[in-house]
Amino acid sequence: MSAPTPRDLKLISRIGVFAAIPREAAELLVGPARVVTLRKGQALFRQGDPTTRFFIVLDGTLKLCRITSSGEEAIIQLLTRGESVAAASAFADRRYLVTAEAVGGARVIQIPMEHVRGCIRELPEIALAVITATSQHLSQLVQHVEDLKVNSGCQRVAEFLVSLSPVRNGPCDLQLPYGKTLIAGSLGVTPETLSRIFTKLKPAGVDVHGSRVTIREVDVLQELAAKQQKPSVLPRPGISARRRPPSEIRGRPSSGPAGDHNANLLHRRLAALDLDFKELLRREPRVLRDLQCVCAACEKRGRCSRDLASDAAYPVWKTYCPNAATLNALRVPAG
Ligand code: SF4
Repeated sequence: MSAPTPRDLKLISRIGVFAAIPREAAELLVGPARVVTLRKGQALFRQGDPTTRFFIVLDGTLKLCRITSSGEEAIIQLLTRGESVAAASAFADRRYLVTAEAVGGARVIQIPMEHVRGCIRELPEIALAVITATSQHLSQLVQHVEDLKVNSGCQRVAEFLVSLSPVRNGPCDLQLPYGKTLIAGSLGVTPETLSRIFTKLKPAGVDVHGSRVTIREVDVLQELAAKQQKPSVLPRPGISARRRPPSEIRGRPSSGPAGDHNANLLHRRLAALDLDFKELLRREPRVLRDLQCVCAACEKRGRCSRDLASDAAYPVWKTYCPNAATLNALRVPAG
């Protein structure tokens, strides 16, 4: 364990809870913080452990999973740079509901929960910031559940591949960012189903060899993902599933231009922030892959697309974009 570097401190000062509180409060909160370096597969904490620490991911990816009553592992979420764990636990002495494990090597900043609670008692603005971060996290989880219910496995896989693509159309070669078991788990399918879906996508120009993927036409794959949409099994009262427009099912504009897909939205958001995709690919390839993965699972695409179209500079996107913390951190110059 080591003290956070000035760059670590700069990074966390621009994310979630810290970005929403005055500088003095942030300095107080981060006072006893320490940085933990995790090896691939190392657990940060396990389901049922007492919540003694509050964590923020500095580098790498954490897998949050639960062990079901039948002993199977259910992947709940993948957390990347700038995302925090256990904000909700700051309000109560509880136990972690999930196990957090490093997917590859990871660096995480930790703050004792007792200290966080003390700061909350001293400065109510910290409590408000923690409540906001918690409700955003909850809303992401609810939308993730809706995605699992509304979209087919094939659609989720196709969208995931499109989101990894560095181009919006034409051919591309890419590398899967994680192992297939983890990808399957995060997309809510079994590894066997994932293999079957890869085979099913072959006629659509998708070739998967190990962790290498070749896509003949990214825009064709995107169209296929959109066509795979199926109506919700639980339509809202008064609106039949058949009558529900795609915009309600997927949270996208019903016109559904191919340009609204995740890769495009990430490109547009990066451009709005003066971040260059190619430069990021060279400088921070792992972080860029993480951004693409988060976009792949993002449920705010419709709103994201509309906000980018109306006023890309308007900062409201930071309140709902699950990539906001990472994108903000990328704007911090290295040093
Ligand atoms: S809201 Fe953020 S994560 Fe979601 S699609 Fe837009 S840029 Fe990607």
